[in-house]
Amino acid sequence: MNPKHDEVRCKNCGALLAKLDETGLTIKRGDLQATVDGAFRVTLVCYAPRCRSLNILNISTEPRGAQARAVRTA
Ligand SMILES: [Zn+2]
Repeated sequence: MNPKHDEVRCKNCGALLAKLDETGLTIKRGDLQATVDGAFRVTLVCYAPRCRSLNILNISTEPRGAQARAVRTA
């Protein structure tokens, strides 16, 4: 597994919710793609119809070199 590219998965069902790398957090659904960088908290509701779990992450990305990280808070 590439350490610079983390998959953010649902805590409950394991569905892929987003990807995290040195450019930021990327969320892609259909043709929509959003990438956010910096330090922030993100709240993601799982898209799986039978799951819909709330996933809350504290995200921190650094502009160069340093690895992005995600800390799950809920
Ligand atoms: Zn889920």
